[in-house]
Amino acid sequence: MAVFSKLAKVLIRDTNWLYCPNPSDHPLYYYTYTNTCPRCVLKGEFYFHAAHKPESGTIGAATRRLLILLMQELLRRKGHKVEVRAASEPVDAIFVDYSTTPTMVLFAEVKSAPLLTPSLATRLQQIPIGSDLPHVNLEDHVSLYQSEIYISVPTWHDDLKEWSGTYFSIGTRESLNDTYWAFTGIRKLLISDPKFFQLYIDYWIKSFASYSTRNKSDPVFWFTNGCGQPPSGKKLKYWKQRANTGIESVSDGKSSVGMDRTDDIKKSVYQALKLGVEGKRTNDYNYRVGIISNIHAVRHFDDYFDAIQDVVWTHSDDTKGW
Ligand SMILES: [Zn+2]
Repeated sequence: MAVFSKLAKVLIRDTNWLYCPNPSDHPLYYYTYTNTCPRCVLKGEFYFHAAHKPESGTIGAATRRLLILLMQELLRRKGHKVEVRAASEPVDAIFVDYSTTPTMVLFAEVKSAPLLTPSLATRLQQIPIGSDLPHVNLEDHVSLYQSEIYISVPTWHDDLKEWSGTYFSIGTRESLNDTYWAFTGIRKLLISDPKFFQLYIDYWIKSFASYSTRNKSDPVFWFTNGCGQPPSGKKLKYWKQRANTGIESVSDGKSSVGMDRTDDIKKSVYQALKLGVEGKRTNDYNYRVGIISNIHAVRHFDDYFDAIQDVVWTHSDDTKGW
């Protein structure tokens, strides 16, 4: 569980919270993982606020572990006699299928960058100085510990044809050393409030649809990782210029999800090829190599995988007699 503890330590800090006064009768502090006010963007307004996204290495270790646990559980529930083990370089996961003769072993590269990183919110304990400004970046949020923290789930209202946030409490972080608070809070939430899971899944499915088609006119698109720069023609507030040219993105392309980033596709295909040729053949096991991901290459399949999906890789020695 060390990977989760490591992530939890950097998941939330008491600095750099965003004060959003819209609407003015319900102001909130936000802790964002993409570079824009998560409430206003649902109304099509882009207020820049630097994100807190933890480093990809920290997120990757936790999401890789979660994906492996999820696949293990899915296979178990479907009655497959497959054991899934987390591994370390040069492979991320090993699947062992005991139902085949000889036993089949899959060595897998795992790509597990999340599609979504929903923002957190807390109620105001005091109106910050300068609250007459539209949005304020707070250097310190001194009352973080013991404050009730909410996860903000964008929710589509079909009757009103608009998005708004639904807020679910995940409890309080008692101190700096309280590293499991978010996990225990979300676990409690899943058990006690079925609405949370249902709304989250609705949000995920709609996000995936807008991500797949790059639907920039859908507000929820701007919550997907790797969504890029705000669309031209939109009014941008306090938006940050890049050092060289152009403007900052809402979420950088390097944060692209699952295995849907061209650099990751190239690296993981090479890794699979290398594992395939280096493995020693044996009659005791039937070996396979592969790439496992939470999101397939939905944007890049046609350009990168379509042409090679039927390719057979083998040593030249194996082709004798063909
Ligand atoms: Zn706002």
